[in-house]
Amino acid sequence: MSERKRFVFKVGTSTLTYSTGKVNLRRMQSLVRTLADLHNSGCEIALVTSGAISVGAGKLGLKERPNTTQGRQAVACVGQCELMFMYDKFFGEFGCTVGQLLITKSDVENEERRTNLVNAFENLFLYGAIPIINENDSVAVDEIVYGDNDNLSAQVAKLIAADKLIILTDTDGLFDKNPTEHADAKLLPVVEEITDEVLALAGGSGSNRGTGGMVTKLAAAKEATAQGIDTYVLNGETPDDIYRLVDGHQIGTHFCAKE
Ligand code: GLU
Repeated sequence: MSERKRFVFKVGTSTLTYSTGKVNLRRMQSLVRTLADLHNSGCEIALVTSGAISVGAGKLGLKERPNTTQGRQAVACVGQCELMFMYDKFFGEFGCTVGQLLITKSDVENEERRTNLVNAFENLFLYGAIPIINENDSVAVDEIVYGDNDNLSAQVAKLIAADKLIILTDTDGLFDKNPTEHADAKLLPVVEEITDEVLALAGGSGSNRGTGGMVTKLAAAKEATAQGIDTYVLNGETPDDIYRLVDGHQIGTHFCAKE
């Protein structure tokens, strides 16, 4: 059995882009550098990335995301290209090869397609490539979407039996009250169990550019920890924190895996 550690990272739109919808190049590059370095150190990395719709809207010069499914599908086609172009370029600069996987809910729920998906992941890892995953927004319609990449990242972590799921976002983790409203809000470093009281701390959805907020992160953490996968929510602004987390330091909020 290999001792190789397998990590799934998830990065959200609000971490990856400016409010203009354009990619935050400095942040993306420093995230990619950190992940490439972890990959070089022998870890297996998969990256679930959002941003297709926001980047597509930015590239097309739209002021906001389209409010129709068909509009968002078209915009995602444009944005997904741009996103992968940037990832390919940045990872390539650090000597890493990436492969794109666009997933719909039915790929995970149908047994045969799930097997194909797992095979694709495993072979990418065998070849030493870094899988980059997004929901296939261009073909997904409302009835069959995961709709948020927090959930998708938990599904990916389960599919590939990851050791850790690390969700990078625009806050430092889960707080005991809303930190934007309460100056004395305290970060919860460890959550042993995601109870109803913990779920009630999540509040509403996050920025107007992503879809998640803390609600979907807690749902993802619940799903992954139930499968024995330690899950972390931390600020994506400082990718260097990822080294410290992987080294076992306390960063962000750790949702403990169930035995
Ligand atoms: N798949 C969507 C995108 O790439 C993002 C979903 C989310 O924000 O969680 O734009």
